[in-house]
Amino acid sequence: MSDLIYLDNNATTRPLDEVASAMRACLADGYANPSSVHRLGQRARHAVETARSQVAHLIGAAPGEIVFTSGGTESINLALAGTLARVPIARPVAIGAADHQAVLAVARHAARQGRPVATFPVDESGRISEAAFAQILDGAPGLAQGLNLGVAQGPPALVSLTAANNETGVICDIATLARLAHARGACVHVDAVQAVGRVAIDVRAWGADLVSLSAHKFHGPKGVGALYVRDRSSLAPLMLGGPQEGLRRGGTENTPGIVGMGVAARLAATDGAAAVERVAALRDRLERELCHRLPGVAVVACEVPRLCNTSCLIFEGVSAEKLLLALSEAGVCASSGSACSSGSLEPSHVLKAMGFDEPQARSAVRFSLSRFTTPGEIDRAMDLLAALIQRLG
Ligand code: PLP
Repeated sequence: MSDLIYLDNNATTRPLDEVASAMRACLADGYANPSSVHRLGQRARHAVETARSQVAHLIGAAPGEIVFTSGGTESINLALAGTLARVPIARPVAIGAADHQAVLAVARHAARQGRPVATFPVDESGRISEAAFAQILDGAPGLAQGLNLGVAQGPPALVSLTAANNETGVICDIATLARLAHARGACVHVDAVQAVGRVAIDVRAWGADLVSLSAHKFHGPKGVGALYVRDRSSLAPLMLGGPQEGLRRGGTENTPGIVGMGVAARLAATDGAAAVERVAALRDRLERELCHRLPGVAVVACEVPRLCNTSCLIFEGVSAEKLLLALSEAGVCASSGSACSSGSLEPSHVLKAMGFDEPQARSAVRFSLSRFTTPGEIDRAMDLLAALIQRLG
């Protein structure tokens, strides 16, 4: 496996050694139920609360504002459906045209229940225009953009924003948009799944009401995530059961996963900034040299702020599907579109929302790096890519 070059870190990241060993120790010695009153239970409770403080610290929150979940998808479901459960059905929800499938699916479900859904557009570089956003906040009909969500009219009660897009890495100016939304009385959810560990996050500077996180995107384990909840009274739980997570999410806590997430958050807070600079330099070199060596390569959204690790490249006239297969045979792991939609023949809804045509969207490959990516791997990946593009082009 070690000769593989893993450039698919927006799909998932390799857990850090410190994460794996903390989880192993928890499975061996910290297996008690954190709700049990005996000594072993209290030790498990302490481990969960330590992790809660570590996750809170990473995003500038208070520990009591963190609810542990099973991952980004559950956090998003809890944030959106949990909020909408307390909002009259006639009040619209607004989402972005380039949001993740988890957000789109909850919005579709809300639409089927009769709730109006507005979709705010992105421009050709993947950004949300403030003017279009403000119009939707003022109750203009939201563009459905082929997402099959219908067209809403009326000021939304809840707005969902994506801090960093999983396919293009485009970073959203959350603070500005959240201010606009709050000025019109809307509650703001931020999908920060791809942003955590890659950009500094301060939920208070953002002014967000709800923020979704997922551990496996920042070198933690899969199957665990968190939701930042500013005002606990605004949210109805989706998972009904025991009084865990301050009555916001019933069920015995995934103690090893939570401990792993805590360690990943601690290490993201301490070593994150140094890793970000190194990764950005590698990503920039990959893009610069590929554009120099190969004709017909375009970097998606290169003119706007992007995640340090993400490169979405369009190889004109080349099928992304064939290229990914050939790369995989040569030992390079990358993706087209999001991991969740790969395998489907539909071109990426993100690139379509940005105005790319179908042939362009079908020629897009995403390379996503991590702190484990080495300069030697980037050199090898570029040589392989250059050879394969000549064969396939
Ligand atoms: N939101 C974004 C932007 C994502 O990229 C993903 C996963 O790819 C999710 C949400 C879902 O997170 P999870 O895989 O933890 O359910």
